Amino acid sequence: MKRLSDISTIREIMEKNGFSFSKALGQNFLINPSVCPRMAQMSGAADAAGAIEVGPGIGVLTYELSQVAKKVVSIELDKRLLPVLDETLSGCDNVKIINDDVMKIDLHRVIEEEFGGEEVAVCANLPYYITSPVIMRLLEERLPITSVTVMVQKEAADRLCAKPGTRACGAVSAAVQYYAEPEILFDVSRGSFMPAPNVDSAVIRLKIRKTPAVEVTDEKLFFRLVKAAFAQRRKTAVNSVSNTMGLKKQSVTDAFIASGIEPNARAEALTLEQFAALANCLASAN
Ligand code: SAM
Repeated sequence: MKRLSDISTIREIMEKNGFSFSKALGQNFLINPSVCPRMAQMSGAADAAGAIEVGPGIGVLTYELSQVAKKVVSIELDKRLLPVLDETLSGCDNVKIINDDVMKIDLHRVIEEEFGGEEVAVCANLPYYITSPVIMRLLEERLPITSVTVMVQKEAADRLCAKPGTRACGAVSAAVQYYAEPEILFDVSRGSFMPAPNVDSAVIRLKIRKTPAVEVTDEKLFFRLVKAAFAQRRKTAVNSVSNTMGLKKQSVTDAFIASGIEPNARAEALTLEQFAALANCLASAN
């Protein structure tokens, strides 16, 4: 079998199929041969019922996943890639390609139908224009998944894996920590892709928690509060929350004091436990 990370193989496949890269679909294909085997190994797909991949491209990671997982289901939006994948993965009987949009497809149904509802691992080199929405969808929908191992832009990796209470933390980092234990696995240079993007990347792994990191009485309110606290980062969290949520400054200040939080604190200084205490305090005040 030809190596799918070889530039000459990719060029040959593209020419044969009259394929050209779509920037809008975030099509940067991996040409560094060491990346996909590592991702597949570290994804935990071997120990789960199988793997779900987003955006197989020409199948370079799909192939490696098929070598370690019992079954791989890969969701690709660009139908021009279907005949290509038919050819490149022709020897892989445990792979199923679904032509759909990962933001629209019913993932609960896919896991039910393809894996009998058993826990799967997600592994992907994500299209960068929808990195956070895809990750948040995977986390918020409470899917039966063990972990999410994905390649994202380096800056996004740092943000997604930042711990609450540190400068790099934002609303998305707090949300990730709520559902999962994130870690950066390894960096990948921009030269590892064709065409090369303008930034470097990193592979991160989010191990899904069995129960959320903190207990909250009203999850929706908790996430609204976290978003509101980070909405005006230069202001104190009290001001940002009261401005964004339309609450009286005094009642927000009271909730901070009742939760044992310094009212002059900025959102980036708050831990997940403090956000939870605040949300629970605001919920009981209503
Ligand atoms: N896995 C391949 C690799 O590593 O070389 C390709 C990765 S490329 C960064 C992203 C892939 O996601 C492309 O194949 C692109 O067509 C696909 N894609 C883009 N938007 C998508 C969507 N909304 N749903 C599913 N696939 C999508």
